[in-house]
Amino acid sequence: MYLKKVEIQGFKSFADKTEIKFNNDITAIVGPNGSGKSNITDAIRWVLGEQSIKNLRGGKMEDVIFSGTDKRRPLGFAEVTIFFDNQDGDIPMDYNEVAITRRIFRSGESEYYINKNSCRLKDIRELFMDTGIGKDGYSIIGQGRIDEILSNKPEDRRNIFEEAAGIIKYKSKKEEAERKLKSTEENIIRIRDLIHEIS
Ligand code: ATP
Repeated sequence: MYLKKVEIQGFKSFADKTEIKFNNDITAIVGPNGSGKSNITDAIRWVLGEQSIKNLRGGKMEDVIFSGTDKRRPLGFAEVTIFFDNQDGDIPMDYNEVAITRRIFRSGESEYYINKNSCRLKDIRELFMDTGIGKDGYSIIGQGRIDEILSNKPEDRRNIFEEAAGIIKYKSKKEEAERKLKSTEENIIRIRDLIHEIS
């Protein structure tokens, strides 16, 4: 599996629809300071569900929408789609290509799509769990992240290795099962109380 294309429209400095194609090789993006190189990685993290605007270098989520220039009016929405080549089936879907889309309007709400089908952010998170591609995956190392990784607490670094080793998915399923178990136990206690009251 590899990232083969990013389509950006209305996201940060990319007012017009822009397509960036990647070969299954090394691609370098070069440009002057402030020309939008980091905005591309921001777009990739955003489409994968980044919810922290601080991580996207903005003040509020609306800041990811093209805010206009002297010559151009601001836009009303931002949309990013990333396309993965999935011929090796690493993404657990029966498609040779998997496209993930996120769209946001100035009103605030985000919409998510997997291969053009509307979905929840949770679906995207689950799809990419343990592939290393999630928004916190080790496949996106932003500016300053290396220092962060080196200086972080050992437990935080451990998460990176666990994601790489493919066990995050099971940890997260275990946590969900434990949550359900706890709520079931609480229900049982409530039912016992009720039985006690009426008997
Ligand atoms: P450097 O090499 O200095 O790290 P860079 O090429 O990575 O720079 P970015 O940080 O990706 O550049 O882009 C910064 C540019 O994006 C700035 O010119 C900023 O004005 C522009 N920008 C950010 N958000 C928006 C927005 N919502 N609308 C329009 N332009 C934006």
